[in-house]
Amino acid sequence: IKGGFLLHIQRSESLYQEALDVIVGGVNSPSRSFRAVGNGTPIFMKKAQGAYFWDEDGNRYVDYLAAFGPIILGHAHPAVTSAIVEAAANGVLYGTPTEKEIRFAQMLREAIPSMEQIRFVNSGTEAVMTTIRLARAYTGRDKILKFAGCYHGHSDLVLVAAGSGPSTLGIPDSAGIPSSIAREVITVPYNDIQAFEEAIRHWGDQIAGVLVEPLVGNFGIVPPAPDFLEQVNKLAHQAGALVIYDEVITAFRFHYGGIQTLFNIEPDLTALGKIIGGGLPIGAYGGKREIMDKVAPMGPMYQAGTMAGNPLSISAGTACLQTLSHPGVYERLDQMGKTLSKEILSLADQYGINITLNRMGGAFTVYFTGEPVTDYQGAQSADGELFAQFFRHMLAEGVYLAPSKYEAWFLTTAHSDEDIQFTIRAVKRSFKKMKPT
Ligand code: PMP
Repeated sequence: IKGGFLLHIQRSESLYQEALDVIVGGVNSPSRSFRAVGNGTPIFMKKAQGAYFWDEDGNRYVDYLAAFGPIILGHAHPAVTSAIVEAAANGVLYGTPTEKEIRFAQMLREAIPSMEQIRFVNSGTEAVMTTIRLARAYTGRDKILKFAGCYHGHSDLVLVAAGSGPSTLGIPDSAGIPSSIAREVITVPYNDIQAFEEAIRHWGDQIAGVLVEPLVGNFGIVPPAPDFLEQVNKLAHQAGALVIYDEVITAFRFHYGGIQTLFNIEPDLTALGKIIGGGLPIGAYGGKREIMDKVAPMGPMYQAGTMAGNPLSISAGTACLQTLSHPGVYERLDQMGKTLSKEILSLADQYGINITLNRMGGAFTVYFTGEPVTDYQGAQSADGELFAQFFRHMLAEGVYLAPSKYEAWFLTTAHSDEDIQFTIRAVKRSFKKMKPT
């Protein structure tokens, strides 16, 4: 028993000590640490299959992390696994173009038509970073506008007021970013069209691009207010700035396409990642042909990548999207999301715990606050200590949530009705044990 939580994690503990010696912070991405949930030992996983993780001590967990989003089909999905194995047998990297890349780009464009031309990269960070360079190259302007709390990867320009990872760790900004760069970034509260309008009035003619998560995933799930995206498009375009949608989390999450195709609104440029790689490293950016014409070798904006469009990522992504295109997939995710969130709300009510639950299809965030959450400030005001208690109780019950109050629960096609019922029982027992902060 560790701090009142029943969990045998001896092997994770000893591995963590070894990891701390050789890997900085013991983790290869800060959001994997447990610093935001009581600073304990992160659980070291050994194996994952379907909706489950098994850790190094043999504990099983129902997984709602889904690797921070990409694993929408669950772990080791047979279609994805065999696509990877088959591709690997034919060579993992060529450094030449391949037919597979064309077919995959065509698939993406069919689903997200505003991406008239596409370039593959290796991560969401790279995709967003490049759309910013491209917006600057196209407009000849330097400034970028982003919304507070939105995370767009770890490139210099976007690590300002940057959401889940940094805000969880209490780093409003990163060290190592010159103030001359931070000065080029304007930050405005999400869903606040008045503040946006003021910023455009003040800096509009210097802004190259307005970068936005069309539905926020990075301070939890926060949908855009009615007309917010339309106003962003209108005012940005009036000022001669491009609109860039970061759909790294949202594309293929809620339906077979992006938020832009779901809401029928088009940005100039789009960045993708996560789900489109089926769990392998990938990113992609694209947009209107006349803008993409600026990219090397066609135009003067340089961007390249040794690993870009590699056969493994392209094959895994193709298999993942093919599977997601089957009828009923998103209806099922939505139905599970609905069942689970309804039960969580009713249990919170039963145990007198104030929560706000924001859901979109098979993704939702439970905020420990009685107030609605529509922007970053709202998400910040949720009780982190209560979340940490809940997280640790759920872990001991065999349910793995993202270790931060700013993240989402992601349902996968591998979750069964039984897993949902198992999770509801775990939530009930966890709520029952929680103590007011
Ligand atoms: N944009 C968004 C909206 C993201 O959520 C993330 C990752 N969480 C990124 C960009 C960066 O992607 P990656 O971690 O693949 O670099």
